[in-house]
Parts: sequence; C-alpha cells; structure tokens
Amino acid sequence: MNIFSSFRDLLSTRHEVAKNWKAKGKHVIGWSCTYTPEELIHAADALPVMVFGSLESTKLADVHLPINVCSFSRSCFNSALKGDYDYLDGFVTSSSCDNRNKIFDMWRYYVRIPYLHFINTPRSTTELAHDFFYAEISRFKTSLEEICRKTISTAALNRAIQVYNDNRLLLKRVYDLRKMQPPLISGVEALEIVLSSMVTLKEKHNDLLNRLLAEIPNRVNPPKRGVRLLVSGSVMDNTELLKIVESVGGSVVADDWCTGSRYFWNLVDSGSDPLVAIARRYLGKIPSSFMLEQKERFGHTIKIAKQRDVEAAIIFVLKFCDTHMFDAPQLMEVLKDIGLPVLCLEWEHSLSGMAQVKTRIEAFIEMVSGVE
Ligand code: SF4
Repeated sequence: MNIFSSFRDLLSTRHEVAKNWKAKGKHVIGWSCTYTPEELIHAADALPVMVFGSLESTKLADVHLPINVCSFSRSCFNSALKGDYDYLDGFVTSSSCDNRNKIFDMWRYYVRIPYLHFINTPRSTTELAHDFFYAEISRFKTSLEEICRKTISTAALNRAIQVYNDNRLLLKRVYDLRKMQPPLISGVEALEIVLSSMVTLKEKHNDLLNRLLAEIPNRVNPPKRGVRLLVSGSVMDNTELLKIVESVGGSVVADDWCTGSRYFWNLVDSGSDPLVAIARRYLGKIPSSFMLEQKERFGHTIKIAKQRDVEAAIIFVLKFCDTHMFDAPQLMEVLKDIGLPVLCLEWEHSLSGMAQVKTRIEAFIEMVSGVE
C-alpha cells in the first residue's frame, strides 16, 4: 500500500521537510525527550522535531565523550556535530537521565544552536512534583515566546491540544490493527508511523493516518503470520532491529518504548486550563524508566501484552542506558510471571554487531515457535 511509503518518506526526508518549514520564516525546535510538551512549540507556530541519531560511526562525538555514554545520546550528538541539525532554531531536552543531562552541556559547548532550553522533570508524580513541573512548563512557555517572538495564546494552546490528542487517538486506532491475527500492519510499519509523527506537522500526519485507516480494510498484502512479540526498551529511532525480528519469523504486535506506545498513550485533558492540563499529562503519562513509577510502567507493559495475545517478549537494552539496565531484570521477571518467554538483548546504536543480534533473535524465535 502506497500510504506506508508516505510515512517512510516523511521519515527519510525529515531534514528537508524541516528546512522547507524554516524557509517560510518559521522556527524549528528540536527535542530529545518525550517529556517535552510539543503542544507549546506547536502553539508558538514552530515545528517540533525529535532529534534522532543514525547508525553510522560516531567518530566526531567520540572525541568529546567518555566511552560509557549511551550510544543513542552519542549518535544524536554526532549527528549534530556533523551538521545534520544546523537548521534548528533551538534544542530542548529534559532531565530524564544522566546521559541526557550531561549531553545537553556538550550541545551547549560544541553545537551552534541559537536557543537551548532544559526542562527539569521530577522523578515522581506527587502533587508537589506536579506543581514544580507546572512551573517548569510555564518557564518553557515564556522562553519559547521570546525565541519565537510570539505570544502563546490560550486559544492556540487549546488548538494544539486538539490536534495532538487527535494524533494520539488515531495512532491508538492504528496500533489496534496489530491486535488482529495476523496483524494488519507490521511492527516495522508501526514504528515508521510513530517516528514520522515525531518529525512532521501533526495536522499533516493526522491526514495521513485518516487515509491509512480508510484504506487498510482493503489491504491485499498483510504481514505474514509470525510469533507474536512484545518489544520493550528505551528509544528505537530506526527500524533495523525490527526488520531483523520480522525477517526471522517474529511479528511485533506490541511495544513499550519511548518511540512507541509511551509517546502517545495518554491524552491531555481538554476541558481544563490548557497549561495545567499539558503539564499534568506529560508528568503523569506512561512513565519512562527514569521515573520512580515502575509499577505503572510494568502495568502498562503487561496490559498491552495481554490485549495483543503476545507469545513472547524481547527487551532491547541499549548499551550504557543505565535506567533501562536497572529495570530489565525486574521486567523480565514480571513478563515471565505472566507466562512469556523473554529475551533480554543488549545492543549498540550502530550497524556493527547486527549479525550477532540476528543470530540470537533467530534462535529465540525458533525456541518459542518450537522449530528445531
Ligand atoms: S534513557 Fe537511556 S537511551 Fe535514552 S538518553 Fe538516557 S541513557 Fe540514553
């Protein structure tokens, strides 16, 4: 179906898309953590784009970074040093892990970007933490207004909430297509769809999602039936690993990572003060592993695994991503407790080592499916 190539194209041409936006005299703001309230950037008439890395070597970043920096942060920093993000008018991140915090300083020193902003995100969701986060989001709003030279009105915030909530609801409907046996879309396609939503104007993405949902019942070439898998991890900003999984008999029908369900699962409450509602939604969303709310995070993982009749799980632990490395053993236990075989796989954000990864995934899927 051609509609899938539209999402893929958005992803592969994301730098051009952003530059075209900028050519209209508008701002492009890069972000790197899903605790960044994109609605504010949208309401300032700027384009929010998630900063992804690449699977190339990171020799530019290696000059500046210690060896035990997570390879995703390293790769994003390398892309910035290479000039891939020279068009950004600003870069914003959140205090979600030590790697991200310290890399922010490196961007400040070595990447020439006019505006940098750091959101201090609490680790818990107590009322005190919500009050603090609201103050942080208000501070972000003020600084965005200065850099974009635009007042962010309540009406613009409400519009942004509507557009973003629409996107979340549409993405959920698309994800529901994976409940079917066999699923109507593959794990690779689902990842391309979510990643493209992170770098595209949401109105345009919503149009494409509506088209996809209208056309999908007539799909003539659905994905092949395979071992129904849940995948879990921190971020997955490329499709290489899922391509491997689905080329050796896996069928990824559920995910639990920041570039998947955790990104869009929760809506902003559209009936209340928009800034309060946005702040509450982001701090209270399905938690990432730097948050203390492990019970809620695992609860979400188990729920989607059960809803989608998952047969096994793969936890992708990015090398030196300490927050997920701490979580992984407990998550393995929780998943085994509901009867799922689990593979915990450490990987580098790079093409090297993929052959070894493939061997392990293939052996795991053969074991689960009982193939000798
Ligand atoms: S959460 Fe993990 S993968 Fe993400 S930036 Fe932090 S250490 Fe890297």
